[in-house]
Amino acid sequence: MKQPSQKIFSQNKTFNIDITGLTHEGQGVGKIEGFVVFVDGVLPGENVDIKIVKQTKSYAVGRLVNIKNSSADRVKPFCPVYDKCGGCAVQHMSYQAQLDFKKDTVLQNIRRIGGLQNIKVNNTIGMENPFKYRNKVQYPVGSDKGDIRIGFYETRSHNIIDSNLCDIQPDESNNIRDVVRDFCKDEGIAIYDEKTGKGLLRHVMVRKGFKTEEIMVVLVVNGNKLAKSDELVNKLLEYFPDIKSIILNVNTRNTNIILGDKNICIYGQKYITDYIGSFKFEISPLSFFQVNPIQTEVLYEKALEYAGLSGNETVFDLYCGIGTISLFLSQKAKHVVGVEVVADAICDAKRNAEINGVSNVEFLVGEAEKVIPELYAQGVKADVVVVDPPRKGCDQLLLNTLVEMQPQRIVYVSCNPSTLARDLKYLTEHGFEAKEVQPVDMFPWTGHVESIIWMQLVDKNK
Ligand code: SAH
Repeated sequence: MKQPSQKIFSQNKTFNIDITGLTHEGQGVGKIEGFVVFVDGVLPGENVDIKIVKQTKSYAVGRLVNIKNSSADRVKPFCPVYDKCGGCAVQHMSYQAQLDFKKDTVLQNIRRIGGLQNIKVNNTIGMENPFKYRNKVQYPVGSDKGDIRIGFYETRSHNIIDSNLCDIQPDESNNIRDVVRDFCKDEGIAIYDEKTGKGLLRHVMVRKGFKTEEIMVVLVVNGNKLAKSDELVNKLLEYFPDIKSIILNVNTRNTNIILGDKNICIYGQKYITDYIGSFKFEISPLSFFQVNPIQTEVLYEKALEYAGLSGNETVFDLYCGIGTISLFLSQKAKHVVGVEVVADAICDAKRNAEINGVSNVEFLVGEAEKVIPELYAQGVKADVVVVDPPRKGCDQLLLNTLVEMQPQRIVYVSCNPSTLARDLKYLTEHGFEAKEVQPVDMFPWTGHVESIIWMQLVDKNK
C-alpha cells in the first residue's frame, strides 16, 4: 500500500480530485497521488476540491469544499437534515442513477475480482416508490440543556439530530416519536445521559407490520419502569389505535447496544405479526426481521426462481437467520435444512415453521462451515444450496464441501459484491457455471448493494 507523504496531509491545503467510485457506505472514492481518499456527499464522475480532515496509514478522509464538475446524476436531497444525519448516504444521487450504480458495482466486482467477463447482470430491481420503506426504526433519545431530542445520530458521532420528518419511515414512526417527545417534555421524564449513566429513557423503537398494519412501540429504559408509563400508553393509543404492543425494554448497561435482554409488556401482545409472501411471522422486540419487507419478497421470489425446484429436491438454506428463505423454498422442495449460527434465530425459525404449518423443514444451529462438512460426511447431500452469508462471505471450508458435494445449483444471496465475486471465482473454477445475477435494491438512498446469483453445476458429459 502506498504510504502518504506529509504533503498530502497538510490540512490547510485544498486538493482537487476526480471521484471514481462509491463505497457501500455511500462515500465517494478518489485518489491524491495514488493514495485513497474518501469524501462524503460526492458522486462518481465529479471533479471536486477537498480538504483533508483525517489520515490513517491506508487512507485519508476529505471534506468537500467545492464541486468543480458536477455529475448529471446529482439531485437535491429531499431531507432537510441530510447534511448532518448519518442515515441515507446517497440522497444527492437520482434514484435511477443509484440503481444503475448498484448494477455496475456488481458487474465490475464480478469482472475484476471474479474474473468473469461475460456474465449476465440484470438491471437492479428498484422500488416503485422508494419512500417509507422501513418497517423498523430505533431513535436515540437525548437531552441538550433541557431540550429533549429524539431523532438520529449525526454521521460518525452521538449527537442527536431531531428532525421532524424522516421520509424512509412510515408516517406512524415519525408521529409516534413526536408524541413521545411531547410527553417527555410535558411530564419531565428523565432522559438517559450516556456520559453519566443517569436518567431513564434511552431509545424509542417502532416496528410496523406492513401487511397487517400492526404497530409495536418499544421504550428502552435504564431501569425497570418508566414514570407515568400508564399515561404514555393511553396517549399513544389515543393517537394510534393500530398499536398492538407496547414494551419496556430494560437496558441498564453502559453500552452502545440498543436493546437489553429483558422485556416488560405494558400494553397488548408481546409481539406483532407480519407476512412475507403468504408466510406469517411473529416479531418480538429482539427478533431479527428484514427491514424492507417489500423488497425482501422480491428477493426471496428470485431465490425461489433461481433454485429451479420441482418438488423432489433436498435444499440447504445456509445462514438462514429466522428461516424466512427456508419457508419460501419449502413450497417447492421435498425437504429443506436451514443452518444458522445464532441459537435464538433458530428458535424463531422453528416457531415460524410451526405457525405456518410447514413440516418439510428442519433447522440446525451452528456454523455452516462446520455443520455442512459433518452432514456431508454422514452422507447427507443437497440438490440445491442457497447461501446468504454476512459481509465477509462464505468460509473456504464450506466452499470446499460444496465443490465436493456437487449440488445441481447454488443460489448465492450477497450483501457484499466483493466477497461474492471472490467466492464466485472459486466456485466457477471448481465445477460451477455462473448463469445470471440479479441486483435488488433493499435500501434506497444508501450505498448498500444486494444481489442474488444463480450457479449451475457444469455437466461434464456434455
Ligand atoms: N437468510 C436470512 C439472514 C441472512 S443474514 C434472511 O434472509 O433473513 C446472515 C445470517 O448469517 C445472520 O443471521 C448471521 O447470524 C448468520 N451467520 C453468520 N455467520 C454464520 C456462520 N458461520 N454459519 C451460519 N450462520 C452464520
